[in-house]
Amino acid sequence: MILVLKENVTEQQVSSFAKQFEAQGLVCHVSTGTQTTIMGLVGDTSKIDIDDVRANPLVADVKRVTEPYKAANRKFHPADTVVSFAGVKIGGPYFAVMAGPCSVETETQIIGVAESVKRSGATVLRGGAFKPRTSPYAFQGLHSEGLRLLSLAKAATGLPIVTEIMNPAHLDLFDDVDVIQVGARNMQNFELLKELGHCKKPILLKRGLANTIEEFLMSAEYIMAGGNNQVILCERGIRTYETFTRNTLDLSAVPILKHLSHLPVIVDPSHATGIPWLVEPLSKAAIAAGADGLMIEVHNDPPHALSDGAQSLTPEQFDAVMHSVKRQLEFEGRNMVCTLKN
Ligand code: PEP
Ligand code: MN
Repeated sequence: MILVLKENVTEQQVSSFAKQFEAQGLVCHVSTGTQTTIMGLVGDTSKIDIDDVRANPLVADVKRVTEPYKAANRKFHPADTVVSFAGVKIGGPYFAVMAGPCSVETETQIIGVAESVKRSGATVLRGGAFKPRTSPYAFQGLHSEGLRLLSLAKAATGLPIVTEIMNPAHLDLFDDVDVIQVGARNMQNFELLKELGHCKKPILLKRGLANTIEEFLMSAEYIMAGGNNQVILCERGIRTYETFTRNTLDLSAVPILKHLSHLPVIVDPSHATGIPWLVEPLSKAAIAAGADGLMIEVHNDPPHALSDGAQSLTPEQFDAVMHSVKRQLEFEGRNMVCTLKN
């Protein structure tokens, strides 16, 4: 971190200011010019609040030269993180496809979809039991009953399950869940993130609707700061002025996140576009951009789905997408590493 101090600072003010940082374990290099004094802070500055520094009356300007996140930063952990659960691996050489309906609706629906996505090569079943809906009058999910139905589908197919949490008070209900999803709307629900930092399960963190890449990584940092390093990042489209698609898939975020962080990055082309026929080309593009996996919405009867039917693929459409996905992975010299047990 580089601090430019105000012109009239005295030597004594500078040295007592430097001591404050040294007390926090940082090395402080002071360079005094004829006009300006510059202070360079070396060490782990991730715990320093840049706004507090800026508010100090001695400071004219301040600039971070290293990122404010440490645990999620590739600089400190050069190797790719591989997240493992129930025989599935994601990250590094491992690619995984998570598929299933937006919402869990009935036992027949979730088991039927689980069986068909498994046949097509998906290795994780998705399905929402707690749904963050824009309207309070829209279907809110089956809650604990939805989690029970997901467990039945897991028992029937062997597919591990990923499902969204909205309230830390519900954590006890998630015992049989393999990966806990934090949805876009909760990406900055810091109390929820802190709670998940203490839990032993992998977390799928979706990028907020209008959040920067740095904010996204800071949210991952919240989880990791609590001791949970099993975080999967998911780019699911951001708000722009474009209205053709539901959101705009920020594909550049994939190589950027992988450059900045060692965490696995997956892409959700269903929520990113809201349009079924865009799922295939954007899945291929995500793989070309270096994604470690995909999350795709699949429903047995999209016109009658209780949420996100318009963007859901039928099992047959999903099967066709999976053929393309496998071809694209081969083209990239990557294999669909299916590590699912049984
Ligand atoms: C979902 O996965 O169904 C969902 C609500 O996603 P997002 O949080 O990305 O909108
Ligand atoms: Mn959805």
